Amino acid sequence: MAKVTTTIKQVLNYQAEHGAWFAANQALFNRVTAFYFGVIQAHEKVLDLSKKDALTALEKLTHTTQSNPTPVMPLEDILEDIPAMFRRAAINAALGSARSFYSHLTKWRKRKGKAEAKGKKFHERPPVPPRTWNKSTTLYAGMWKERANNNIVIKVWTGTCWSWIKVRITGRELPSDGEMGSPSLIRHGNQWWLHTPVERHFKSPGTIEKQVATNAQTKICAVDLNINENIAVCTIQTVEGTILATKFIHGGRRISGFRKKQLGRIARNRRKTGIIGENEQDNVQLWNKIRHVDEHIAHFVSARIVQFAKTHEATILVFEHLGNLKPTKGKYSKRSNDKRAYWMKGRIFNYCKYKAYNAGILTSRVNPRNTSRECVRCHSLVARYETGKPAEGYTYGAPLVACALCGMRGNADRNASLVIGQRLSVRYQKSQEKPSTPLARERVSKDAGVVVSQDAQSAKRNHLFLS
Ligand SMILES: [Zn+2]
Repeated sequence: MAKVTTTIKQVLNYQAEHGAWFAANQALFNRVTAFYFGVIQAHEKVLDLSKKDALTALEKLTHTTQSNPTPVMPLEDILEDIPAMFRRAAINAALGSARSFYSHLTKWRKRKGKAEAKGKKFHERPPVPPRTWNKSTTLYAGMWKERANNNIVIKVWTGTCWSWIKVRITGRELPSDGEMGSPSLIRHGNQWWLHTPVERHFKSPGTIEKQVATNAQTKICAVDLNINENIAVCTIQTVEGTILATKFIHGGRRISGFRKKQLGRIARNRRKTGIIGENEQDNVQLWNKIRHVDEHIAHFVSARIVQFAKTHEATILVFEHLGNLKPTKGKYSKRSNDKRAYWMKGRIFNYCKYKAYNAGILTSRVNPRNTSRECVRCHSLVARYETGKPAEGYTYGAPLVACALCGMRGNADRNASLVIGQRLSVRYQKSQEKPSTPLARERVSKDAGVVVSQDAQSAKRNHLFLS
């Protein structure tokens, strides 16, 4: 079984004064966490214990009970009557931070030892323990009750006492098919949210290698990401090479145009205001606008890619490695635009990866070398050219391809997408020496009326493949 955790984020509606209580509650949580971090620093050995034993040991060191009347470092010094579950959440938060800090420290010491053993100077500064704490409060069972779709009762420190309050919840409902974890109280600006992790278990898909090597009917969804009009071109093919569907996700030109316009505005503003101070963020609103649109597009495109893969029952999603960002020439707006388009590709990949995994689809990447230049049928180099121009040479970014050797003609991005999918199959079939897909077979599979999901415009392009 594989498991996947999603976080359900819900907005809380509460009386104005409760906002101050949440803040006081969080401040106390951080004081207690910092306190326990200190206790761990004084007793580093607890980190060798399991999570459960470490918790017990830390409670013994700090918590006053009848059988433990004089703990070494009493938590009471901070506040009396801290609920046990509040304390435990803070201890676990402190343990998490301490484990991370000490593992960094150990690695640093190792690097230092290595350098000194070689007689080299070592200038790297050691990691420092957190100086400020900004943890969100995790509400363990006992700190909340009566959770319904629209409200929850939680126990918070108001600054003067512990109080149960009822708050309304809005936004996404919790899915019913998952296992709910402990919710956290999170502050976004002035608004408090409730984040709840939900764990789901599903039958684990076999590894990519196993799927490809053992089942020739395994469906692969390959994606070619672009910075031109076709943001993403997705194709479905089986491991043995039958092409089943194509989808073009358009809109690249509009996004690029929008972004370029905003970047141009920023450049003009900068010229007006002169040099910007270090660490000073300029044109905040324009940047936010660009960021929001980029984020929205990445989510939108990735959701559509995964939906397409799901519709056609693909179990593997494959992209090409991004390669390095090649510096481009031109105006500030052009250069920044290219850079953001490159980042966008990375973001679409990441979002696809987790969205696909939620649907039981695994994601992989293949070598990007010549994916746009290779013919999907016979692997010789293709000609790439503009519409209405002769089919020769290689015009970077042109929409059409033609193969002089086997006669394949079609959309350049679709060809690249198919090559990407094919590369994945080939990777796990090396021993079997895969023959190239014959022209006739593809024709048959298409004429057989296999569903081709795409809009009219791309359908038109798609016909070029058959001409
Ligand atoms: Zn060819």
